[in-house]
Amino acid sequence: MKLGTNHIAIDLGTAYIRIVDSNKGITIEEPSILTYSLTSNEKIAFGDESKKMIGRTPTHLVVSQPIRGGIITNYDDTTTLLTHLLRKMNKKQKIITKNNVIVSVASQLTLVEKRAIMEVLLQVGAKKVFPVESSIAAGLGVDLPVWDPRGFMIVDIGAGKTEAAVLSLGGVVISETCRVGGIIIDDIIQAHMRIHHNLVIGSPTAEKIKLNINDIRQTEQDVTQDVKGIDLQSGLPKVITIYEKELLIPIIECIMKIVEVIRNVLESTPPELSADIMDTGIVLTGGGALLTGLDEMISERINVPVFLTENPLH
Ligand code: ADP
Ligand code: MG
Repeated sequence: MKLGTNHIAIDLGTAYIRIVDSNKGITIEEPSILTYSLTSNEKIAFGDESKKMIGRTPTHLVVSQPIRGGIITNYDDTTTLLTHLLRKMNKKQKIITKNNVIVSVASQLTLVEKRAIMEVLLQVGAKKVFPVESSIAAGLGVDLPVWDPRGFMIVDIGAGKTEAAVLSLGGVVISETCRVGGIIIDDIIQAHMRIHHNLVIGSPTAEKIKLNINDIRQTEQDVTQDVKGIDLQSGLPKVITIYEKELLIPIIECIMKIVEVIRNVLESTPPELSADIMDTGIVLTGGGALLTGLDEMISERINVPVFLTENPLH
């Protein structure tokens, strides 16, 4: 699809909302988060500003993450957040009233879930909304000839979910998702710290630990990280040193769920398309795919070449 003038494309991710102006490229990329007051219901902060508040709010403030695994879980908060980001994108209010909006949607969403996404965009002023399957959007984003009679496999590891899809002739032939992604791995790190070290940490700290991990395939090196949190017993702040190695077991358990989804999709793929995928390899995208060593780990398990896209976050 060629983006003409006056088109806007929106990706409502679990971690990030990205807004593309057909003339300017990505103009907004902010966390899908907003903070509001429980007492007055007033919205206090959005996107980047709001992310800084996670785990730091007084009791009357609440941080909301209204999109989970490509599904809008809080309609009003998503509308408010999008309105704010669109106004930020162009100071002239109601900027998108004259625009057609292209939105990426996961293949596995139900009609009701897709409808909710379309409704949100109409609510914030879109003239017309054109849904595009997110795997097709990703394929186009990495310049794959998705319209060809040839099979490609895209695996998008986002924050709240992973979707593996086989594309051919501009459509999704088969796809499957699982609830594994960047935020889920952060949750696992948080749980590990609580259970094995009696240390309570917030999700931003868990994400930082994950981003610091050298390589998920390391087995021998004694690489450590210092972690700040609250001691579960004393309730006091504490710094402990952990071995990265101890986090690898639960993380790899998670990754095996991704491997299983890829295997299931491959097993249901018609033979001609399978042969194409063996030639081209599997294309990995999404921020979750940036864990060092993940591409090779998947490739080793399923015996198919795996390529990480140049810019998985975009
Ligand atoms: P979504 O589309 O679901 O919003 P993204 O594709 O934008 O998600 O990916 C965001 C996720 O990628 C976050 O959970 C973030 O922690 C993770 N991420 C970003 N960079 C890295 C990295 N270098 N290593 C591991 N994970 C990363
Ligand atoms: Mg995404």
